[in-house]
Amino acid sequence: MAAEELRRHNLSAVLERLHLLGPRSRSELTAVTGLNRSTIADLIGELTDLGLVDERPGTTSAGPGRPSLVVRARPTGAIALAIEIAVDSIAVAAVGLGGHVFGQQRMARSRARTGPGDTTSDLVPLMHRLLGSLPPDHRIAGVGVSVAGITRRDDGVVRLGPNLGWSEVPLGSLLVDALGIDTPVLIANEADLGALGEYRRGLHPGVRNLVYVQGEVGIGVGIIADGRPLVGTAGYAGEAGHMKVNPNGRICRCGGLGCWETEAGEAALLRLMDTPSDTGLAAVESIESRASTGDPVVLDAMAGIGRWLGLGIGNLINIFNPEIVVLGGVYHRLFPFIETTMTQAVSRSALRAATDLVSIVPSGLGVDAALVGAGEAALSRVIANPAGQRTAAVDAPLA
Ligand SMILES: [Zn+2]
Repeated sequence: MAAEELRRHNLSAVLERLHLLGPRSRSELTAVTGLNRSTIADLIGELTDLGLVDERPGTTSAGPGRPSLVVRARPTGAIALAIEIAVDSIAVAAVGLGGHVFGQQRMARSRARTGPGDTTSDLVPLMHRLLGSLPPDHRIAGVGVSVAGITRRDDGVVRLGPNLGWSEVPLGSLLVDALGIDTPVLIANEADLGALGEYRRGLHPGVRNLVYVQGEVGIGVGIIADGRPLVGTAGYAGEAGHMKVNPNGRICRCGGLGCWETEAGEAALLRLMDTPSDTGLAAVESIESRASTGDPVVLDAMAGIGRWLGLGIGNLINIFNPEIVVLGGVYHRLFPFIETTMTQAVSRSALRAATDLVSIVPSGLGVDAALVGAGEAALSRVIANPAGQRTAAVDAPLA
């Protein structure tokens, strides 16, 4: 490895540890990175000069009169603006290094306002309020955008967002124009970012193989394989909502027949409850409260959804051999009511060897998983190349 590349790698390794693990003493950093003390001192010096870390007295004392110092990622040194464009809501957040959330806001919206123009119009005031609330000495590192659709990473075009009614929408350039920003904008699929959020900020330390299954109107899947997001050639991997599970099923919004989301998605749940015209957050809240009171119609509908959900999850377990499957979105909210039939269906469809190793759990980040992932994705650029502002740009992986 060339000296310059080695240095970038080491700067990145130290900053990433501080970002994910929180403040650490120099000797702890030496232990977790395997680098020697003088190298760590040198790297901390450069990261301090870059404004990305600082060193301050910790909460524990090293001995009488000698407060121990800890190194901390400076939240204002690099702030990501995170945006989530879901079907039933939009959200913005400002997240600094170390995961410090400076501000966050979510706005419910009607399905009559999901078009690209209405979406950007609704985002502008939310973002301006957020930017106005930031401390004066901050630096914006980039913008990460989660969208309920199939997105092309290279140019930020949403190829297809069937549940938003979008096709070939140049979201990246629309947002740059609408928000008047000149920092990098990364657009990615909501489930891919939900998986990244769960992997980096969820309740699963040490897990390197994770499948995230999100239900909103459709079903999205994000995969972390051996610690790396699996995104495919153009960023379209994980469209498991359109995995064909029922040859006798229905026509999906994508045009296919018998897709997983037509059997286990929100529309299927409402159809099973005989309330197919209800939609959105209010419908899900109503279902949740009826289930809590033991309404047999709702519980039967949930059992049906659990069976189809488990069939698909079993297939994903066979393919990816994850350690953990995280259920997000509507499945996170409805988890207690679908868990039994889902688990039984997983046992029927997945190989015993793989199911013995896997846990299926509700998301610890809840509705914010994709928003958290969008912030992490935007910060990943500066973490991958902390000195990037004064050296040649390096294309950072989304991790
Ligand atoms: Zn489909």
